[in-house]
Order: sequence, then C-alpha cells, then structure tokens
Amino acid sequence: MIYTITLNPTIDRLLFLEGTLTKGKNNRLRKVTYDIGGKGHHGSNAMNQLGVKNQALGFSGTTNAGKLENILLDKGIDYDFVEVYGKATRESYVILEEGIGGSILITEKGFTVTDYDIELLYEKVEKKVQKEDMVLIAGSTPPGFDLNDLEELLERLKRIGCFIACDLSGEALKKAVEVGVDFIKPNRFEVQELVPSDDNFLDHIKELSEKVDYLIVSLGKDGSICSHAGEVYEVSTPPVELVNDTGAGDCFVGTFLGSLSLNQPLTECLSLASACAADHVQYNDSTTFDINNARELQKVVTVKKIS
Ligand code: ATP
Ligand code: MG
Ligand code: MG
Repeated sequence: MIYTITLNPTIDRLLFLEGTLTKGKNNRLRKVTYDIGGKGHHGSNAMNQLGVKNQALGFSGTTNAGKLENILLDKGIDYDFVEVYGKATRESYVILEEGIGGSILITEKGFTVTDYDIELLYEKVEKKVQKEDMVLIAGSTPPGFDLNDLEELLERLKRIGCFIACDLSGEALKKAVEVGVDFIKPNRFEVQELVPSDDNFLDHIKELSEKVDYLIVSLGKDGSICSHAGEVYEVSTPPVELVNDTGAGDCFVGTFLGSLSLNQPLTECLSLASACAADHVQYNDSTTFDINNARELQKVVTVKKIS
C-alpha cells in the first residue's frame, strides 16, 4: 500500500481569463474550473493512473470539506484526512490568460494546525502504515506544523520501517535528509539547499546519495539525474509542446513511486516517470496526463548510466 501525506492541502481554482490580465480594467473570466492542489494529492492521482492502490492522508478543513471531497471523488482518489474543525482548506488561484502559456499562481497560507491536530495525524499514520508500505510526504507544511513536528513524523515512520519518500523543499527537505529518508526529488532550485551548484555537481550528488537511497534531481525539460546503489543515471525527456509545467514534478514522483511499488526495474520507473511528466506539461491544469500517450513517449526516453 502507498500512502501520500499532504500536510497543507489546497483546492486549485483555475481562472480562465478573457484576454490577458490588465490593471485598471474589469478582467472577465471565460470559465472557472477546480482541480486538486496539494502535492501529495497530485502524487495519488498519478499513482491512480497506473492502477496503483493508494490513500491520501493529511489535514483538511471542515468548513469547505465538500468542495475538496468532490474534487477527490471526481478523480477517484481515496482519502482519510484528519479534519480540522471550523477551518477551511485553502484555495490557490491559478490565472490562465487567453493565448499565453504558463500561469500566475496565487496561494493562501493555509489554516493553522494545533498540537492536537498533529497528534491525531501521527496516530492515524501509525495505525495504518505497515513496514512493507510506502509513504510519500509532499508539499509545504501548514502554519503550526514546524520542523520538529516533521522530524517527529519522520521518526515515527522510521520506527515502522516503511519506505519514506519526500517531495519537500527548503529546511523541510534538509530535515528529511538529516533524519534519513529513502527518496527525495528536489528540482534544480531545491537541490541548491543541499549541494553547491558548482563544477563538481555530480560529485556532490554522489556524496549526497550515500544518505538517500533514491536521489533524483529533476531539471525540467532537461530531464533528470538519478543516483541509486552507487550508480548515477541521466534521464532524457521526450520532446513535447509546453503548455504548463506546474505539477510536472508531482506527476514524476507519483508515477516513479507507483512503478517502483510494482517492482519494475529502475530504468523502467525512470523512463515511465519522465514520459508521464512530459505528457502532463501539454495540459493546462496541474494533474492531467494520458497514460497511453505516455507509453508512446516513453519509447524515446533514454536512461544512460553516467558513472
Ligand atoms: P512541480 O511543479 O511539480 O513541483 P518540479 O519543479 O518539481 O515540478 P520539474 O523539474 O519542473 O519539477 O519537472 C519534473 C520532470 O518533469 C522533469 O524531470 C521532466 O522529466 C519533466 N518535465 C518538466 N518540464 C518538461 C518539459 N518542458 N518537457 C518535457 N518534460 C518535462
Ligand atoms: Mg519546475
Ligand atoms: Mg516539485
């Protein structure tokens, strides 16, 4: 079983503008749609596309619970949240201008969780997770959930002995490496928190990989570098037309872990993840990809051992 943990979930409200965003003018919307936000939820969605059973855990606010649940149900995502009474799950506003690629993202901070809420999460996790399971902790942490709380969560998971994957950034990412997790996937900016970006980048990666079993650095359209079991691999991307790369990393992480859980060889996990993430950037939301298209794209992805 795979569990994803989204500590600071969000509901993405996609605002499709008529024309471009202009100050001093009434900017009209063509349409508004909703999508799941939250990196763990994105991971769950990607695993679902591979047919890999998983459940989304984390916090959710009660005052707009129906909104989040409808989106998750619509995507077929199984969930079991710690409900935080009287609070609303935050919304993120994704502004999409007509005829222009990319998006403008505006996010709320999220509600504050109390020590009591955090304890309930620990209890839920400890009740569910078994040694043979995989847990993905992804995304930002909410106000009230500090580094000590993250450390405690990681320590409890370590005591269970499950596979721990983290898609975190900044101090949280550093903490995950310090505690010792099995998988991280920083992007090219996030990795700068862990290693200097000088000419010896690969040496630094090798050094870091002694602490993390599966270390993947994603480099957007330039692919990714993976270090595992003393080997370093360079993974290419298939050529695609970029529409919106938000969630590319989440798609990569979800499909990589999903295929790893199916005991696929590492090179297969890497090439499939690269293909799924590339297929995803052709859509304007943060979750969609087509697994059949991805299997076609996978044919041109190369995974090369570079040391
Ligand atoms: P996220 O928004 O999910 O946090 P990220 O910044 O963590 O994304 P990226 O490094 O941007 O992750 O992308 C992850 C992977 O997605 C890349 O390693 C690559 O395989 C694929 N990818 C991203 N952008 C492109 C692109 N323009 N063309 C093809 N593949 C891409
Ligand atoms: Mg990126
Ligand atoms: Mg990312």
